[in-house]
Amino acid sequence: MQFVHETLPQRVRFASGAAAEGLVAEVAALGAQRVMVIAGAAEKDLADRITAGLPVVHRHSDVVMHVPLEVALRARAAAAKQDVDVLVSVGGGSTTGLAKAVALTTGLPIVAVPTTYAGSEATAVWGLTENSAKTTGSDPRVLPRAIVYDAALTLSLPVELSVASGLNALAHCVDSLWAPRADPINQALAIEGARALRVGLPLVAAEPDAVAGREKALYGAYLSAAAFASAGSGLHHKICHVLGGMFNLPHAQTHAVVLPHVLAFNAPGVSDAEHRLAAALDAPTATEGLARLGNRLKAPRSLRSLGMPSEGITEAAQAVVTAAPAGNPRPITVDAITGLVRAAWEGADPR
Ligand code: NAD
Repeated sequence: MQFVHETLPQRVRFASGAAAEGLVAEVAALGAQRVMVIAGAAEKDLADRITAGLPVVHRHSDVVMHVPLEVALRARAAAAKQDVDVLVSVGGGSTTGLAKAVALTTGLPIVAVPTTYAGSEATAVWGLTENSAKTTGSDPRVLPRAIVYDAALTLSLPVELSVASGLNALAHCVDSLWAPRADPINQALAIEGARALRVGLPLVAAEPDAVAGREKALYGAYLSAAAFASAGSGLHHKICHVLGGMFNLPHAQTHAVVLPHVLAFNAPGVSDAEHRLAAALDAPTATEGLARLGNRLKAPRSLRSLGMPSEGITEAAQAVVTAAPAGNPRPITVDAITGLVRAAWEGADPR
């Protein structure tokens, strides 16, 4: 064995039903006394409730998906004006993303309270959008110092959004199996994450008001993000990034549609990981397991239904080949990727 694995420094607290107490402990551990709470308008009540015990000097609700630069500039200005010493983000990937944009230039520590399964809280990756182009980068300053996971906060996330977000987390697991820095450690995290999501997501769909499934899904989402942060972006994420940018498709749903096709394409090139993933998905093959899970969860199936125009398939395939990550287990050609994107556009059965 020869590999180098970097573990990111972060406190991770699972505190079902106890986010408020968890936040008090994490903010105190940082010695912080001037808190800026970042939470979008939809999560405001929830955020007010769990941050009531903190020394809050500013509440910021100006959150926009994909972090437009002007939104980041306003948040940075507010942090400077109020002289804050810690950022507490309460929300999905868009909210965590805004806190990261502030941390990027100020170095302020973040305590993240995720309310979806996006997983941004466990990565050092930031993203900013300017003139409709999204720039991403990696910087240790944006990695939240602590995460407080409280599954009770996800009870209000509608089933459809929970499923799409959970399948996005599963995509982190699957792509980590062959991404550029894939290694046995992040593969182990990814396989356990996939198992937890396979068990948790159907429970969320069947009993949306119960915490048990949501807890499992959140645990799986954390593992998926830790695996992904370490392994990097594989073919699946490059395809979704290209499609999302070209056609303005919804993030989590695009992942849910594309993943089965990338798995079917790459599976023959990673037989050992494929067997382990199949076991985690409780099926004879990983592709079969993902298809069964998608059917059970009534996952979105086609890029067509998400609004992608058919004329875009060839152009998108070419852009994917240009951006393709090194070391993919199967050769990436324009023909192969055109076929893959077309199948995802049609909503074909990847089996
Ligand atoms: P999001 O944060 O935009 O949230 C989606 C919707 O869900 C919003 O309308 C929000 O108000 C609502 N919502 C969130 N939590 C809720 C709850 N508990 N109950 C009810 N409604 C709730 O979407 P997302 O999928 O969480 O994150 C997507 C963004 O995160 C994208 O911009 C993506 O690029 C980014 N992302 C970044 C990383 C990274 O490592 N940097 C990783 C994953 C995703």
